Amino acid sequence: MTTQNYIDIAEANLLHTYNRYKVVLDKGDGVYLYDTDGKKYLDFAAGIAVFAFGYGNKYYNDAVKAQVDKLVHTSNLYYNVPSAIAAERLVKLTGMDRVFFTNSGTEAIEGAVKTARRYAYDRDGTTDHEIIAMKHSFHGRSMGALSVTGNDKYQEPFKPLIGGVKFAEFNNLGSVKELVTDKTCAIILEPVQGEGGIYPCTEEFIKGVRKICDDNDILLIFDEIQCGMGRTGKMFAHEYFGVKPDVLTLAKALGCGVPVGAFLTNEKAAALKPGDHGTTYGGNPLAAAAINAVLDLFEKTDVLDNVNNVSAYLEEELDKLVDEFDCVELRRGKGLMQGLVLNKPVGEVITKALDNGLIIISAGAQIIRFVPPLIITKENVDEMINILKGALA
Ligand SMILES: *Cc1c(COP(=O)(O)O)cnc(C)c1O
Repeated sequence: MTTQNYIDIAEANLLHTYNRYKVVLDKGDGVYLYDTDGKKYLDFAAGIAVFAFGYGNKYYNDAVKAQVDKLVHTSNLYYNVPSAIAAERLVKLTGMDRVFFTNSGTEAIEGAVKTARRYAYDRDGTTDHEIIAMKHSFHGRSMGALSVTGNDKYQEPFKPLIGGVKFAEFNNLGSVKELVTDKTCAIILEPVQGEGGIYPCTEEFIKGVRKICDDNDILLIFDEIQCGMGRTGKMFAHEYFGVKPDVLTLAKALGCGVPVGAFLTNEKAAALKPGDHGTTYGGNPLAAAAINAVLDLFEKTDVLDNVNNVSAYLEEELDKLVDEFDCVELRRGKGLMQGLVLNKPVGEVITKALDNGLIIISAGAQIIRFVPPLIITKENVDEMINILKGALA
């Protein structure tokens, strides 16, 4: 079968929820992907900030394969070894107290939202509580997560969403304060907004929001599904500010490709009780073995040093493009989560780059997003910049 055959089959049978690039990816090796015609691509998207350690990592693959042969699934009616170990390690790593494993990012957000409502129900015995979320945020596509996602286009056809959600301006403390009432149960934000356009929060903002939460008995939820797990050069982006959340959501690089997410709470926010929440798959032995392999790799390698070294270089090289090309307005981001803002739609640039063997993605109409595997080298950055320049010209 030809590449076009696969595309035709997919288009004839998949629900048409994506306008896909005309590429059928077939295998991966390190920071490179290959399509069904054998064409090679340098990958600066990592499956949307997922594949942190590159493709075909032997340690990771061996660990996942070994678990497949041992035990894949048990349900949560019983304990299993990989999930007990992964839970202890994640709690230690995050400084949180408890973890609930999910199958995706959006489910982690659902759990965080339910946690907030349950907490407030216990707090004052009433319902109809409110959540403050941010404009330009992205928290997922299920109804609860969509309800706290600050994007009219995603929300409009699916109304009514869950009630009581209000949107504040990101990095504008005053606009958050204005929305606080005695019904507020949580404030949710991404320390570095991802899909919304790669906007890092300011220290003043995140500290101010923490204080609002402390003063009003409100839970603070950090969504680090994209910016967590080493992406910004620290294990979690909020470590830059010395501010801790009450609830933390993770996914994407947490399992490096095996679908898994998690929400973690501190003891105060551990409000969900037996019967309040559940999942058939969440934290099954296979998913938990993937998490353990990923955590091993963070411990065994100097990947965070690599993120810090290479991202400094990536920033320099992207900044040069701002000077060199009229269509490039500015760069912003943290670590290996960078955005390049153009003064025009980025679709054509991304398609040209793809033609020339570079995978990059967008974050909003006019922003190119760079979220490569965390193991990329400066040589990979040079290679990327060369192809990108051709596509921008
Ligand atoms: C991707 C993403 C989600 C949703 O995760 P899914 O696994 O796609 O459901 C939620 N929040 C943030 C910040 C994300 O980047």
